[in-house]
Amino acid sequence: MSKHKEPAELARETLKLLDERGLAPTPEHYASVFQELGGGQAASGSTATPNWSALIRDLLRQLEMTHKGVTLTRKKEGLEVVLNRFAGKPDVMSEKLNGLIRSWGSGSAAPDLAPATLPEATPAAPVPAPAAETAKSAGMADGQDLLKQLRDLLAQSLENTLPSHPELEDEIKRLVVVVRNTDDPTKINDLAKQLRQFWLKLELRGGDKVKIQEGLLRLLRLLVENVSELVADDEWMQGQVSALQTIISQPMDKHAIADAERNLRDAIIKQSSLKQSLTDAKATLKSLMTTFIDRLGNLTASTGEYHQKIEGYSQQISKADNLTLLGHILEDVMHDTRVIQASALRSHEELLDTKKKADEAEARIKALEQELMQVSELVREDQLTGALNRRGLDETMERELKRADRNRTPLCVALLDIDNFKRLNDTLGHHAGDQALVHLTKVIKETLRPADTVGRYGGEEFVIILPDTDLAAGIEALQRLQRDLTKRFFLHNNERILVTFSAGVALRGTDEDQEDLLGRADKAMYQAKQTGKNRVVAAPGQEK
Ligand code: GH3
Ligand code: MG
Ligand code: MG
Repeated sequence: MSKHKEPAELARETLKLLDERGLAPTPEHYASVFQELGGGQAASGSTATPNWSALIRDLLRQLEMTHKGVTLTRKKEGLEVVLNRFAGKPDVMSEKLNGLIRSWGSGSAAPDLAPATLPEATPAAPVPAPAAETAKSAGMADGQDLLKQLRDLLAQSLENTLPSHPELEDEIKRLVVVVRNTDDPTKINDLAKQLRQFWLKLELRGGDKVKIQEGLLRLLRLLVENVSELVADDEWMQGQVSALQTIISQPMDKHAIADAERNLRDAIIKQSSLKQSLTDAKATLKSLMTTFIDRLGNLTASTGEYHQKIEGYSQQISKADNLTLLGHILEDVMHDTRVIQASALRSHEELLDTKKKADEAEARIKALEQELMQVSELVREDQLTGALNRRGLDETMERELKRADRNRTPLCVALLDIDNFKRLNDTLGHHAGDQALVHLTKVIKETLRPADTVGRYGGEEFVIILPDTDLAAGIEALQRLQRDLTKRFFLHNNERILVTFSAGVALRGTDEDQEDLLGRADKAMYQAKQTGKNRVVAAPGQEK
């Protein structure tokens, strides 16, 4: 470095050194090398003797001023570094101090102290003019030759960036062509603009790399932080690792890293919540299985062997700590249960069959009962004598009363009771008594008119309905019956048995119902009994 060198020459040497060192021709690299060669002085345009009083005044003022993002401590630290490092170089020191002051104004913490102290992506404060502009500001001292040399060097430097940025090949090649072909000093400004954009892009790429590194570090941290979670489930661990492998195997940019990080974060959250659900599900399944087995044990009245098995399963379940094992136990339980179910089903079927038979029998009984009821309802006749039974009597009486009302005809009802029938039973036997009843009925039916009806009212009591019959005719009909009975003996073991009866005859009164009518006939019959038996008594007229 030499303060005697012309700026244009310094610029040329700077580019040469950049090329030798294989550094990208970024403004920062250029500025570092340029200053290393002593170009700071030239670039800043300062004179050999710096204006120290102005500089110190400025320094004091700037120290006191508030600069966003730069604390006083940091300012002092920067100052300390510059003062120490350039203690023996007052000419460089003034430039460095100026640079330091400017860096505070730009919000940057550090000035461009030296290339080794600066990260690649940190914007350097004192950016000297790029080579082309420097060349221009140098007033093209060495004319076109110098410009051409500079162009070549610049082009070469650009080409040297190709291996580290193959993805920018097209752009680099295009810029190289432009650089080589820029022979008109008036076009240098335009070229400088393009170069600036290119360097900006390189810078951004450098930034990308830093971000990718940071992203990967974050991912790694994320995985490490979750290592504790990995203990329980190996599958989960494999999932995480393969996710990371996928990320690493693909070409990385900061967006891919950010996506991967987000996905991995989501996956961790999702998997840990799933794991929780799975643990819950496992616990639920366990308790369900235990309950199930308990109930099964209680319900089944099966063999002791099954109970023993069930107990065994209960113990296995309480010890099981993974789903696969629980699944196997469940399978075994289901198998044994199916066996029990099959036998239970058989018993159940037998039970069903029995119940079906019982139901059928019950239905048949009901049907029979129904049938019986219908049959007995049909029966209107007394089985022994063939006279009407009580039901037949009621119906006939009802019908005849209505008819009498309709036709306004008289109707008589007679109630007769065999005399001393008990004695007959006692002396000749019950069967003879029955036959006596049959005999009486036969005589009554043969004596009376076809329109008359006889019914068995009770044991040896009969009712005779005499339509179209007034009281006198009624009494006469009953007396004729008495006479006939004395002629037609009841024969028992060829023995002639005289059967007599006592009767009461009642003429139906106006609108008199069956019950009243029979009541009056009964009273008259009782009177006949009371007054010597074997008599027919007319019932007095209906009481109004
Ligand atoms: P009374 O002259 O007062 O009527 O005397 P009785 O013996 O007829 O008196 P009671 O009415 O007390 O007796 C009736 C008897 O008739 C009693 C009973 O054993 C008998 N008897 C009733 N129904 C039947 C029957 O269907 N068959 C037979 N063999 N006897 C019957
Ligand atoms: Mg009687
Ligand atoms: Mg009697």
